Amino acid sequence: MKPAPFKYARPGSVDEALALLQAGGDEAKVLAGGQSFVPLLNLRMASVESIVDLNRLDDLAYIKRDNDTLCIGAMTRHRQIEVSAEVRAAQPLLCRAAAEVGHLAIRNRGTIGGSLVHADPAAEWPLVAAALDAQFVLRSQDNSRTIAAREFFLAPLMTAIEPHEILCEVRFPVAPTGAVWGFQELCRRPGDFAIVAIACQLTLDDSGTCSAASLAVGGAHSTPLHVVEVEPIVVGSQGDAAVLTAAAEKAAAAVDPSGDVHGSADYRRRMVKVLTQRALKEAWAQKSAA
Ligand SMILES: Cc1cc2nc3c(=O)[nH]c(=O)nc-3n(C[C@H](O)[C@H](O)[C@H](O)COP(=O)(O)OP(=O)(O)OC[C@H]3O[C@@H](n4cnc5c(N)ncnc54)[C@H](O)[C@@H]3O)c2cc1C
Repeated sequence: MKPAPFKYARPGSVDEALALLQAGGDEAKVLAGGQSFVPLLNLRMASVESIVDLNRLDDLAYIKRDNDTLCIGAMTRHRQIEVSAEVRAAQPLLCRAAAEVGHLAIRNRGTIGGSLVHADPAAEWPLVAAALDAQFVLRSQDNSRTIAAREFFLAPLMTAIEPHEILCEVRFPVAPTGAVWGFQELCRRPGDFAIVAIACQLTLDDSGTCSAASLAVGGAHSTPLHVVEVEPIVVGSQGDAAVLTAAAEKAAAAVDPSGDVHGSADYRRRMVKVLTQRALKEAWAQKSAA
């Protein structure tokens, strides 16, 4: 079937983009890196009446630190984050996660904002945003609001963003003193989407005792899942085997995976357990290596 033609606009400012989006109503869509949106159009799985292309908006592509917050503009490409010395110094888990997004060509083009709004439950950015309790700044023509990542993702490919809103900025807390992290991903080939992935951040004191912990699961639930039940198990411990096992069992019990050609629901749940143990072990190993 021949697709219906759509209007195309390439605004020069965020205000202009917001006005175009508002004027286009529910049938207008934003184009960022196009790495998810364009394939959906090509496959006729999505259709639009008008496209608002954000690629000229350099003022949405930045990385800047504001005291204890790392602010990343929504049009920042995955690759810019992966190689940023500023990001590596402030929150190295982000560089690690960025390196796992697809292939280099996709990372050069795709954006953090596009990945978050696309909201694939197996994608790396939603996962680390949930793990680190990131905040998202959304703007519409008349309003600006901030929403927590943990409230943003509603279902696969579904978020709390309104049709006339643009995600403008992603705010991550800078890793506190004593922070260590773990990131584990299972995929069949390098560059594939994760079958299951785990991201965690722990804060350890000089003796290796944990005072704060946060862990999230990707690919095994309808959304990236912050597993709050892991924290009381891990906090106060030094990461002995019994603690890692108990935390992994909690994470596996918290998810509600679906099966597909890449793995059954049961396989995914088992992998959550295995990768949670590995991610926590990886985090504690950073302390020993320091
Ligand atoms: C072969 C292949 C492999 C891939 N592998 C991975 C992988 O392993 N891990 C992974 O995480 N991703 C993977 N991706 C997806 C890739 O990361 C995309 O870059 C990302 O999902 C979408 O970002 P984008 O900038 O390309 O957004 P687009 O495709 O342009 O947009 C995606 C959606 O978000 C909306 N949108 C975009 N930006 C904004 C904004 N600022 N405000 C409001 N709405 C917005 C668009 O309207 C659209 O609905 C892969 C893609 C391909 C083609």
